Formats: sequence, C-alpha cells, structure tokens
Amino acid sequence: NIQPSESGVVLQPERDKPIRQGHPWVFSGAIHSLPASVPDGEMVDVLSPEGEWLARGYLNRQSQIQVRILSWHKEATIDDDFWRTRFAQSIARRAGLEEVTSAFRLINGENDYVPGLIVDRYADYLVLQAGTLAVDQRKVKFAEMLLELTGCKGVIERSELTLRKQEGLEAASGLIAGEAPEAAVEVVEHGRRFLVELSDGQKTGFYSDQRSNRMRVASYCAGKRVLNAFSYTGAFAVHALAAGASHVTNIDTSADALALAETHLRINGFDPQSCSEQVTADVFEALRKWRDSRRQFDVIILDPPKFVQHKGQMERALRGYKDINLLAMKLLTPNGILATFSCSGLVSADLFQKVVFGAAVDANRPVQVREWLRQDVDHPIAITFPEGEYLKGLICRVE
Ligand code: SAH
Repeated sequence: NIQPSESGVVLQPERDKPIRQGHPWVFSGAIHSLPASVPDGEMVDVLSPEGEWLARGYLNRQSQIQVRILSWHKEATIDDDFWRTRFAQSIARRAGLEEVTSAFRLINGENDYVPGLIVDRYADYLVLQAGTLAVDQRKVKFAEMLLELTGCKGVIERSELTLRKQEGLEAASGLIAGEAPEAAVEVVEHGRRFLVELSDGQKTGFYSDQRSNRMRVASYCAGKRVLNAFSYTGAFAVHALAAGASHVTNIDTSADALALAETHLRINGFDPQSCSEQVTADVFEALRKWRDSRRQFDVIILDPPKFVQHKGQMERALRGYKDINLLAMKLLTPNGILATFSCSGLVSADLFQKVVFGAAVDANRPVQVREWLRQDVDHPIAITFPEGEYLKGLICRVE
C-alpha cells in the first residue's frame, strides 16, 4: 500500500540502488509514497527513502512500472527541447548505417534513453510504437519532431498490444503525421530489395535486428540446399541465394508472408520456380514429417517467434526450442550448418546454448558452436538495462 506524498515518488528502504545505478524502471513494489496531485503520464521526481533527489521520470499508476526515468540530472527540464535532443542523439548514433540499409531502428526505447518509444525507419517513412501512456499522450508531437529531424515523409503508428495492455492502453495504429505511402515501401538491405507494407491492418514489417546475422548465415550457403524455417518474408532466403545457395525452402504458417517471400526472390533477380519452394505449414509438423521421410538439407535456419512472453511459459517454450533444434539436427547432412535463434528476452544466451546442447545430446551428433550472434547495432542495449537484450543465435556445425 503506497502512501500519499507531497514532494515526489519516495522509494522503499533499500530499493534505491538500481535507480542510483541507472536502471530506468521503478516498480510499484519499490515505492513507499506517491504524490496524489500528479496525473498519470506527467513528470515526477524520484526520491530516496531518506528524501534525497535521485531522478526524474514519468508516472503511470496503471502500470507495474509506475515510473520510467528520463533523467538523473536535477536541472533537467523535460520540455520539447529535451525530447528533441534525445531523438537527435539517437538518430546521430545510427550515422553511417544508411550505407548498408534503408530499414533500421532509429529509437530503441529505454536503450536509447527514451523509455516507451520505438521508432523504425523504412526508407522515407517512420513506424512508431508508443508502449507507455506518457509516450501515447505525446505521440503526435513526437511524430512531428521526428519528421523535422529526419526529413521523412510520414509517421505511421503500429503499437503492439502486448506492451500497451500492461499500461492500460488499447491497440493503436494509423497515420499520425505527414503522409502515408501509397504502396508498399521498398527498402534495400546490403544491396537486396525488400517490400514493407506499412498501412493499417497489413502487418508485414521487416526484422532489421537480424540484418548482420543474415549476412553471417549467408556466408555458409554457397552451393547449399537451405531450409529457412519461420521464414516470414524470406529475408534470410534472399541473402542465402545472393551468396550462392543452390536452393531455398521457405516455411511459415503465414501464406501472405510466403507470397511476399516469393516476390522478394523475384525482385532480387532469382527465379522462385527453379531455386526455391514456399511451404505453408507448421514448422514443428513439417520437420517431423521430413525426418520420417528422411529429407535432408545442408543448412537449416531456425528463427521462431518469441516463445516466452512471461515466465509461466518458460518450460513449454524450452521444450519447443529443444524440439525444433533436435529435429533440425536430424535433417542436416553430415557437416551441415544449423543457424538457430531465440528472440525471447527471458531466455538468456547461456540457457539457449544449454537447450541446443540438450538437442545435440539427443540427436547423438557432434556439434560445434562456430559463432555467437546477437541483435544488430541499431538495437543497442543500454548496459544499465539488461532487459534490452533479447535476440541471440548460434551458428553450429553438426557432424
Ligand atoms: N526470419 C524472419 C523473421 C521470422 S518472424 C526474417 O528474417 O524476416 C517469425 C515467423 O514465424 C512469422 O512469420 C510467423 O508467421 C512464423 N511462425 C510462427 N509460428 C510458426 C509455426 N509454428 N510454424 C511456422 N511458422 C510459424
């Protein structure tokens, strides 16, 4: 039970250390007292149990995370200039990236010191996700600032519901500033072309966090038969073929994603008929079927969606990861390559490697880890915010 306070958010005894060290979240359990007069979404000061000023951030009583810290400097005023400077700094950190891609994350929330705000750039358009009430309240203003700073043509909102529910917000999407693109937006990643549909309803985004990993994986694909499992719109497949793969099998449950994957092959100069196959199916079932029919591949990519949203799903998720990795090892030719990923933040890199180890034991094949992969540079992790780390992958040689 949180008490009313006059001055600011006062922390419970011994709960001030993370905030002093730069962690940006204040959970309800760490709060002793809250000012009654500050509306949700507005700025509050955070004070130590002894009343010492620690930081300033925005409040939301509806959320488990009641305060998200914006500044540890007492003189900081959280006005338009403050936000504009944060955005400009975040944009400046991506300098040079446009030489390899026109699709990248411009603002990575807490990791770019703008809690609750994710912004992705796709050529001349921006996609904004407002994950918190305070950001939601200011999103139109933010979108206008971002247009000014980037020279982009429009900002489209596509806020994910899972994040917003925890803040007491509904899903939200649509144009919020400038103009919407008339058709799918074309982006270029390491010289290959991809289409991104930004309009309402159609949720074919693009996973820029895997950019460098696509290149690493492609480097193993020359002359190989590749299975791209959980292919989505086939970005790994395009780069694999560009690196000389002889054939790619894309598999996904989404027929729409696979139709776009086929388009991606075509616009990059590959004949989908001769060098690829799109399979609309559940990966778990297809791998089992192919194991029984003894189908083989030289390279297998496993890039499943987030299996663990909350701790309660952990056990089942780990079984899922082990299942697909074990099946993949069984489908690989001798000395085949397994590129396996997990984007579940709650599964650490260590734990993920243990799961792959368990699969190798059961597959009874010698497995060497050759490369440890992570999310790309436009998805940096503030070292004060380990929650920002989510994507991890291993490239393994399976004898
Ligand atoms: N590798 C992709 C991103 C994968 S996103 C890229 O680089 O762009 C995860 C994909 O897994 C989604 O397209 C989703 O439709 C698909 N998916 C989720 N569960 C699945 C399942 N059980 N079987 C097959 N595909 C699945």
